This record gives sequence, C-alpha cells and structure tokens, in this order.
Amino acid sequence: MPSTRSLTALPKVHVHAHLDGSYPREAVLALARRRGVEVDLPQRSGAFGGPDGWHDVWEFFAAYGRVPALVEDLDDLAELCRALVAQEAAQGVVYLEPAVEPQLYAPRLGSLRDVTRVVLEAFADAATRHGVEVGALVTVNTDQDEAVAGELAAVAVEFAGAGVTAFGTAGFEEPSDLQRFAPHAARARAAGLPVVAHAGQTGGWECVAEAVDVLGATRISHGVRSVENPEFVQRLVEAGVVLDVAPVSNVALGIVPDLAAHPAPVLHRAGVGVTLNADDQLWFGRGVSDQYAVARDVWGFSDADLAAVAGHGLRIEGMSARTRQVFGSGLAAWLEDD
Ligand SMILES: [Zn+2]
Repeated sequence: MPSTRSLTALPKVHVHAHLDGSYPREAVLALARRRGVEVDLPQRSGAFGGPDGWHDVWEFFAAYGRVPALVEDLDDLAELCRALVAQEAAQGVVYLEPAVEPQLYAPRLGSLRDVTRVVLEAFADAATRHGVEVGALVTVNTDQDEAVAGELAAVAVEFAGAGVTAFGTAGFEEPSDLQRFAPHAARARAAGLPVVAHAGQTGGWECVAEAVDVLGATRISHGVRSVENPEFVQRLVEAGVVLDVAPVSNVALGIVPDLAAHPAPVLHRAGVGVTLNADDQLWFGRGVSDQYAVARDVWGFSDADLAAVAGHGLRIEGMSARTRQVFGSGLAAWLEDD
C-alpha cells in the first residue's frame, strides 16, 4: 500500500534556494501590479519531469533578472523576504538558508551592508512569527561579482552569528580558476562560516573537487556530476561533504534528461549526505516538499529513506542546537506516526 504520510509534515531543511528565484509567485505578482508592470512568470502545474518554456538557459537568466528589478525600495525587499519565510514554513521547513545576493539590489537600494541588514531583519522577524529558523548564505556570483567579492565576504563576516550562517559561490558556468575567490572563502571560514559552493552542475566532478580543495567548501550546491567518478564520491562520503541537490531544477535546465535519471538516489545509497531543494521555486514551479514527492513517486523511496534524506539536514552547520533537537525528534515522530 502506498504510504500516506504527509510530505509537507515531514520536517526538513531548505538550504539551496536562491532568494530572488524563490519569492512566492503571488507576492511577486502583487508587487508587479503595484508597479504597473507586466511580469511573465511561468505557470507550471503539470506532471513532474517536463518544465519547459525557455529556449535556452540564457533566456531563463534574462527572465530571472526581471524580478529583482521590480524591487524599488528596501520595504519591498523586506516584504518579499517575509513572504518567502511564510511559504517555506508552510512546507514543513524547520531550517531555511536562502542564498542571498545583496549585490542584486545594491547600490541601487543602498549599500551591500544596508541591503543585507534589511534582509536579515526581515528573515528574523518572519522566522519568529512562523516558528522556523532562518539563516542567510551570502553568495558571490563567480560569473560577474569578482569586483565585489571581497566586500561581500566582509559583510558576511560582519554578520556572522547575527543572521549570516554561510558564505558561498554561485554561477551557472563553472570557472576553473576558483583561486580568485580563495582568500574571501578563507576569510569567511576564519570567522566560523562554512563555505557552500555551486559546482558539479554544468561542470564535472573536478569542479566539485576544486571547490572542496581551493575554497574549503563543506557543502556543494548541486554536485550531481560527482557521480561520474565513484572514487570521488567515496571521497565526499569520507570527508562528510553535503550535496544540496535540486532535482526539478536539474531537469528544467537540462542538466539531467529526466527525473528518473537523476543521480540523487545513487549518491544517497553511496552514503553521501544529500539534501533535497527547489533551487528556484518561482521559476521551476516546485517547492521543497515536491522534491520529496519526486523521491517517493519517481525514485521509489520508502518513508524510512525519505526521513533519512531529510535527516541529512541535521548536518547543516548554521542550525542552532535547539532547532537541531526539535528537528531530530520531529523526524522520529513523523516515521512513528501512522
Ligand atoms: Zn543554485
């Protein structure tokens, strides 16, 4: 008999979610209406496995940039941040760590520091209201942010322990010269922030290795192409590197042909700490709970498997001891409940 345990009720982390690609659709449409602007957001309600609508990824990224452009002041930004936390709390998220790129709003709306402060305040306010914990992963886009990377690291360090929980890199094209960002990553690590790097999405396992070796990354956003080298997968297991994978996103952007072919089950069974994430719910139309539905419906994960995958979230460094405890007992309760 198929399980009827609720995947929304399954306690989970959501730690690979880009702020600007994850705002709730209704909140973005409401903002656009206030601005008198038409914004063309994809409506994706069909079956899993075939999100489409873009000619190529560049068309996708062009559309993506229109959302931050709608934000005209820091109050708008705070409102979207609060709406995001509410959306995630409703999906059973106990710990949310959005990837925040204040450089998408600064200097237009204020300094990097001011923008970051407003985002952190909005997160903290909404976290209290919705009973979840929220950290921020301050993120450098390796394609375009080299000039501000040092300043972003300084902001991350300033707010370490006061809302910022990690420092990271993103970028669709994976550069081979991560050395450029190594001093900034080292500075963040010295302040106690884990480094979380995008790698192994368009680039191969060597890009994941470089992120680990050069940036000292302990978590990888995506990392799915690690599967191409079983020896390297073993190294990830031994080093305890967590892969924050995003199955629906990978299909939408053509990284894997379909959900059935996604490497997450292989990685999970090899012993890698895999978390499931939406990446950009606003664009791919699927939230974090939906990724667990993929694991159940497409990969045939049992409820014990689902709880084990959700349980990899206990390894996320930024989470407080209190949340970790509530999360751990919530997972056990979910499995016991029938
Ligand atoms: Zn991502």
